[in-house]
Amino acid sequence: MKQTRPGTAKPSAHPTPSPVLTPRTSRADSFTESVIREMTRLALAHNAINLAQGFPDFPCPQELKDAACAALNADFNQYAITWGAQDLRAAIAHRVEAYNGMVLDPEGEITVTCGSTEAMMASMLALITPGDEVIVPEPFYENYGPDAVISGAVPRYVPLGDGESIDEEAWKAAFTKKTRAIIINSPNNPTGKVFTPDELRFIADLCIEHDVIAITDEIYEHILYDGHRHISIGSLSGMEERTVTIGSLSKTYSVTGWRVGYALAGAGLTGRIRKIHDFLTVGAPAPLQQAAVAALNLPESYYRELARNYDRRRKILYKGLIKAGFDCRLPQGAYYIFTDISGFGMTDVAFARHLIETVGVAAVPGSSFYHKGGETKLRFTFSKKDETLHEACRRLEQIG
Ligand code: PLP
Repeated sequence: MKQTRPGTAKPSAHPTPSPVLTPRTSRADSFTESVIREMTRLALAHNAINLAQGFPDFPCPQELKDAACAALNADFNQYAITWGAQDLRAAIAHRVEAYNGMVLDPEGEITVTCGSTEAMMASMLALITPGDEVIVPEPFYENYGPDAVISGAVPRYVPLGDGESIDEEAWKAAFTKKTRAIIINSPNNPTGKVFTPDELRFIADLCIEHDVIAITDEIYEHILYDGHRHISIGSLSGMEERTVTIGSLSKTYSVTGWRVGYALAGAGLTGRIRKIHDFLTVGAPAPLQQAAVAALNLPESYYRELARNYDRRRKILYKGLIKAGFDCRLPQGAYYIFTDISGFGMTDVAFARHLIETVGVAAVPGSSFYHKGGETKLRFTFSKKDETLHEACRRLEQIG
């Protein structure tokens, strides 16, 4: 911008040079842009099928669209209560009691947020003092890395393990005097792992012994296969006051763009989370909070059908990946297949680019789920219509 001297309308013939902005370091320099969202941009640029970012290409239930339109027309167009519309918090309390086995006071223990993304960030900012250690099981959903950096946490990674159960000794060793929190994500992105009751009890006991908070991302809680059951660690005895349970409408109701999620925690933790949430976002979109009530009131059959549909899509993609030469197994939950690509002789980023540019299918490089390593992995989502998945599988057969 050109500057004029005070009192003169004309620009000076010799404007004072503006001081050069001294580059300084910033916490934003310590992490990269989201690789998942970058893959989406590349997929769009190359007209590739996007099996990178986990969002559906099919519509959400009609009841939700009707409820959203009705809310707009009924003038729910101003700020809702900062921590969430009262009827939505009541609906969440009702649903969480029935499904997750946790009894919560909507007045003091539920905070509605802009998706679970904000719930996680607000919880970490609220509960962590810079320098505290936070245990992050690896591979992890990529947001947790930047969340740790932004909140000043020192991440301590533990292997999630490839097998059926976690390595208890490694997990025990990760708890130190400095540990403030552990992040649990079950069903897990990217592996699909669903933590067993025994594993959750083991983790809960470690949290109690070391006075640690569990921050648990349960966004895929309804997307389960082969008889696996979802258990909220916050429902286990001794965990009521030391758990933040994070949920969202994004995946359960196929509305990732609505940005409505929530954080559930005892009143002490909630008080802090609400303060951060207020100054970060003021609140989640008011009309969509109203529509969310309609979502939470859908019948039980909705959830059974959701899981059944994802089971069918899971099998379509799995079959296609195996046929195309990927080494993978069927996930227990969530909507991703985490593949091993060692046999293709390319590293994850190069292979992901190759797939987008020459085959026309986008996936996420495995290294974005690890602080170190992961170059032999690629993640595909099956949160797409059957025909999208069939076409992607047809294209994948052409990998050269
Ligand atoms: N947590 C996990 C494990 C996810 O996989 C995702 C999205 O892919 C999110 C959180 C983001 O959820 P939301 O849309 O509620 O912010």
